[in-house]
Amino acid sequence: MPLSGLNNPSLLQQQCFINGQWVDADNGETIPVSNPANREIIAHVPRMGSAETERAIAAANTAFPQWRDLTAVERSRVLNRWYELMMANQEDLARIMTLEQGKPLAESRGEIAYAAAFLQWFAEESRRAYGETIPGAKPGQHIVVITQPIGVTAAITPWNFPAAMITRKAGAALAAGCTMVVKPASETPLSALALAKLGAEAGLPPGTLNVLTGSATAIGGAITGSDIVRKVSFTGSTEVGSKLMAQSARHIQKISMELGGNAPFIVFDDANLDAAVEGAMASKFRNTGQTCVCVNRFLVQRDVHDAFIAKFKNAIDGLVVGDGMDEGVTQSALINQAAADKVNEHLQDALAKGATLVSGGDAHPLGAQFVQPALITDVTPEMQLCHEETFGPLAAVIPFDTEEEAIQIANDTPFGLAAYFYSDNVHRVWRVAEALESGMVGINEGIISNPAAPFGGVKASGLGREGSHEGMAEFMEQKYLCMGSI
Ligand code: ADP
Repeated sequence: MPLSGLNNPSLLQQQCFINGQWVDADNGETIPVSNPANREIIAHVPRMGSAETERAIAAANTAFPQWRDLTAVERSRVLNRWYELMMANQEDLARIMTLEQGKPLAESRGEIAYAAAFLQWFAEESRRAYGETIPGAKPGQHIVVITQPIGVTAAITPWNFPAAMITRKAGAALAAGCTMVVKPASETPLSALALAKLGAEAGLPPGTLNVLTGSATAIGGAITGSDIVRKVSFTGSTEVGSKLMAQSARHIQKISMELGGNAPFIVFDDANLDAAVEGAMASKFRNTGQTCVCVNRFLVQRDVHDAFIAKFKNAIDGLVVGDGMDEGVTQSALINQAAADKVNEHLQDALAKGATLVSGGDAHPLGAQFVQPALITDVTPEMQLCHEETFGPLAAVIPFDTEEEAIQIANDTPFGLAAYFYSDNVHRVWRVAEALESGMVGINEGIISNPAAPFGGVKASGLGREGSHEGMAEFMEQKYLCMGSI
């Protein structure tokens, strides 16, 4: 089993981490973890439910005052050590990630560095939990606003970024002085448990960070049913996010939601086409198309359409599909069969409704979970992929004539996470950037994620921001002190 080749075997944890202890499910049940590249079972983790979740919440509640009362510098030191430990174990963490998630090893290494960078960023940010003073309303009165950690928090995270979606939430929560219960996706629990191991080694006190694997509905239900948990941070589908929002209404829990997208990528006729192709490849095919900011719809102005398609096809044909552990592979197996089926369904639907196949579209010889990257054009709004996230390696091009038309098509979706466009005209850059209905806009850039910048969506793509100083503010309450003179 390739996991036996780790330099630091203690990173392979197959138990959950509650109150500083490695524990099994009460009933001993487990769930298997498999390698998407060959469907081999690589490990088993506990199938925990509500009783274990309640214990983890109680542990986080007990740990909260002690963690909150540390100085910002003390919390910062622990987060920095955690960052350093992640980087020292980058190779092992990357191997664990590729084996359970599938993504090419080079991308896993990149994600570990990106994930660790959130810990570093929030280690720095913890020292800047500033308040505010405001002129009083009458003589002698002073108005002061202080910020305080919200309390016990919870994170529910997806499988596409098994490490970064945890550090982005846990780094912010812990920096703010909160404690946390984390439920990672059942497809990728090993990365989460390895992070918990390193967090404890870095000096997180017992109960400060707890990681539970198992039943999503039972754990999610216990989290949202708790009057101790003050904040729930979720990344995943809009469907589940909407359910969790409804559930969290019961105790008026504060929520952050990073949900689905349907990102447009507009290529205007004044764009640098080589740069646009480079950005298109990065934003469409990273993680084999399985990111929430992946392009779902390319919009290309008609007079540069053929030139763009020729260059884009050339780049797509250079992608290498295979097992993420193999050198040189750039496109891996998708996370599961349903994910691969959805890409094929979107492709077949588009072709049946008149799209033109430019490249790909064949079954891949490595098996049904591998998808040959495809390029189609002449896409029209009634096709399924214009309304749903494809989440796979299918690039779909919609030709357009005018800027107004491009903006109208781009915004014609309930989602609003990321959008991208390429243009060399500064007037157009401002016009289009302001008109796009999305939380983030890449302008002549295909990769926009950065711990220092606010990540998040508008419309059905979510609520709140992660990363940046906003990310920590999501885990804090403001308290207004009105001080009269005596
Ligand atoms: P994806 O499409 O990325 O798999 P999901 O929304 O299905 O997104 O899953 C994201 C996270 O939410 C995972 O950790 C998953 O286990 C969890 N989850 C799924 N359904 C529920 C639910 N009903 N309540 C709480 N968490 C859930």
